[in-house]
Amino acid sequence: EVVIRVRDLYKVYRMGDTKVYALNGVDLDIRRGEFCAITGPSGSGKSTLLNMLAGLEHPSKGEIVIAGKHIEKLNEKQLVTFRRERVGFIFQSYNLIATMDAVENVALPLSFRGMGKAKRAKRAKEYLKLVGLERFMTHMPNQMSGGQQQRVGIARALAVDPQIIFADEPTGNLDSKTTMEVLKLMQTIVRERNQTLVMVTHDNNLATYADRIIKIIDGKIVSIEENHKEADLE
Ligand code: ADP
Ligand code: ADP
Repeated sequence: EVVIRVRDLYKVYRMGDTKVYALNGVDLDIRRGEFCAITGPSGSGKSTLLNMLAGLEHPSKGEIVIAGKHIEKLNEKQLVTFRRERVGFIFQSYNLIATMDAVENVALPLSFRGMGKAKRAKRAKEYLKLVGLERFMTHMPNQMSGGQQQRVGIARALAVDPQIIFADEPTGNLDSKTTMEVLKLMQTIVRERNQTLVMVTHDNNLATYADRIIKIIDGKIVSIEENHKEADLE
């Protein structure tokens, strides 16, 4: 079952007189339950693609169909609703709110969905347990290591039970040991729930843990590689 369908996608940025083709005709299908890595050198268009799939930016041309919905046809207000209801985000810099503890950070997107206070605190705690942070519920972001903060970020993305999770260089600020832990955690959780994970990374090594590796150069897909080996993240 295809959950993300991209057809003939273009993104052109105008820089004065010159045009930058950040995406130059991308076609792509992503299936339910798939862990997909988008890889390629810096400036190749990875973030641009992810941002468009996630409904953060409008394409210049082309189609993005997510769970049967044409994302490119939504207006700003509809996009906000789409992002809140359908997708989860994991960021390189965690993007936690510094003045909120772990539970409050995870509960925040649930409040946007109108969930009551007691219920969202309960749900936030469940997800913090799931990512191994039972002892850090009331810690503030600056009282946690990078790996712990990213676990809060993962819990926050997952707590809304999204169909699709987008992660842009999620381990970019972590050391290699913590990177493996965080990657394994994301992989295990999305597999168990049959969720779709789309991860951008410039690191070919990390991409090898995905089910499929999509390589982009100069705004074009240059290869799509099925990864049949059972990734050993131990
Ligand atoms: P990557 O994520 O692979 O590093 P990006 O998607 O960030 O690449 O960028 C792709 C290309 O588009 C680059 O040439 C970049 O400079 C350009 N670009 C990205 N965002 C903008 C923008 N807001 N305005 C102008 N050019 C941009
Ligand atoms: P990791 O190996 O996961 O990156 P660190 O070595 O950074 O962890 O941190 C080890 C321990 O110290 C963790 O239990 C973490 O909670 C705690 N810790 C890290 N940074 C801070 C901080 N700024 N304030 C309080 N505790 C911290």
